[in-house]
Amino acid sequence: MPFKEQAAARSPGFTPMTHAQFMKSPENRARYFHRSFCGWGEFAHARPNAAHEGLARLQANGWVGHLITQNVDRLHHKAGSPAGRVLELHGTTHRFVCMTCGAEGCRHELQEQLARLNPEAAALLASTLAASGEPGRWRRALRAGTAADARATAAGAEGAERVPVRRPDGDVELVDAGRGFVVPPCSECGNGILKPEVTFFGDSVRPDRAELSRELAGSCDLLLAAGTSLMVWSAFRLAKAAKEAGAKLAIVCVGDTRADSIADWKAEALAGEVMARLASHPRLLLPRI
Ligand SMILES: [Zn+2]
Repeated sequence: MPFKEQAAARSPGFTPMTHAQFMKSPENRARYFHRSFCGWGEFAHARPNAAHEGLARLQANGWVGHLITQNVDRLHHKAGSPAGRVLELHGTTHRFVCMTCGAEGCRHELQEQLARLNPEAAALLASTLAASGEPGRWRRALRAGTAADARATAAGAEGAERVPVRRPDGDVELVDAGRGFVVPPCSECGNGILKPEVTFFGDSVRPDRAELSRELAGSCDLLLAAGTSLMVWSAFRLAKAAKEAGAKLAIVCVGDTRADSIADWKAEALAGEVMARLASHPRLLLPRI
């Protein structure tokens, strides 16, 4: 199956906002931030899984040097990987940046500012959270779009059985997303557009990160691609760079990857299971490659 179709199959219905769409209009940015505002709390409090924890332990015992991640959720940091040895290739949602002056800020602080500027949305979020401790129910409520709908949906009224949708970037689906939602300009330059410090679809990886990732890939003994199909070119080219520099390439992934034909070793397995086993092994032993 072509890689584009594989991506669509893995995330049915997922249509991320592109960089061009985000930059095109205030309405698009309001829509983006409204969804992000409602999904931020749960996203920001997500916990690392076995793969994150296993990789952190492999770093701690010296088997893994740097991590290069395509994830934007900071879960490697939460698992204990040292910040200086995690390269977030596509940035992180935990920071935002001004597209005019380059000033950066903390997403948690922006969340508080958005709540002050959008009291109705903040009240809706608070009421739906308070109305039900069941996450799926409050997500359905948020998607209903109005405070009245939210209260009814959170209380379990008819029509509440829509499937909750969480996007990979932490946003939630909302009816009428962005309508009336206020997004502040940059407080440093006064009118710059604020954007999550994330590489959106259609945008390029930040040059300093691209360069550092190439340096790391080109200087390692072995590049271990864990839990990624390497579909994205910015990731696949690191596997290529490592091979061209004489390193071995090992892959742990369920299903085909873009680099299968150049891999020295591959395990068709879940990254979490393999990383946990490797990390708990007193002496790391890999098959001869
Ligand atoms: Zn600015």
